[in-house]
Amino acid sequence: MLFHSTVFGPIRSRRLGVSLGVNLEPDNGKICSFDCVYCECGLNADGRDDTKIPTRAEVKKALENKLITYMKGSEPVIDNITFAGNGEPTMHPDFDGIIDDTIELRNRYTPETKISVLTNAWHLSRKKVFTALRKVDNNILKLDSAIPETVSKINRPVNPNFNLQEHINDLAKFNGNCTIQTLFLRGATCDNTTPEEINAWLDALKIIQPKMVQIYSLDRKTPYDTLQAVPLSELKSIELKVRKLGLNTLVVA
Ligand code: SF4
Repeated sequence: MLFHSTVFGPIRSRRLGVSLGVNLEPDNGKICSFDCVYCECGLNADGRDDTKIPTRAEVKKALENKLITYMKGSEPVIDNITFAGNGEPTMHPDFDGIIDDTIELRNRYTPETKISVLTNAWHLSRKKVFTALRKVDNNILKLDSAIPETVSKINRPVNPNFNLQEHINDLAKFNGNCTIQTLFLRGATCDNTTPEEINAWLDALKIIQPKMVQIYSLDRKTPYDTLQAVPLSELKSIELKVRKLGLNTLVVA
């Protein structure tokens, strides 16, 4: 499922309440540095015809127009302006400037709204990306496994030099001011719910010390129909293990 505009919604989100989405990728294509087997946007190989991304000025204009129109109505307050969309938002070359514009617009039109970024967190080594993420209210960072072979099978980083340990160390640089988001699933070639997987993942959480750990499973159509959702009872038992580390956690069902 692709989002066919730069600003979309607001939609009611399981995790983010009334959420106004911002898509920094093409209207009809996906751009991401991962190629997750469960990606709701489809595979990177699909929709390659459209590679046009919105400019910083276009994003600002679209967001401002939407906020002005929305504020004239009697709709509920927007809980979050959420950077999500058709791929990885931090890959946009002007991501940092777009975050500055968004903070300015949020402060002007809807100061109680939070700004959230859903990211695969692979681009934190770029200083301007990390600095921009530190400015927003909610960094929601993906970590589906702490075992490199499993990341290769589930998240399938495009860069062959992806280094999971460096990635976990980068996540720890938020000094706990971040949310870790983990999708548990089983498939023909991958399963991130085995005891070995859970133990490695818990060890990574001990290093990262996030303020929140969101746990969820498949909920929508995925590119591969062999993937299976993990039952709620199992997610709850994983949640309990996270709680025992003294971390806040939430199963999103
Ligand atoms: S990181 Fe997100 S957008 Fe990128 S492939 Fe994975 S699920 Fe899709």
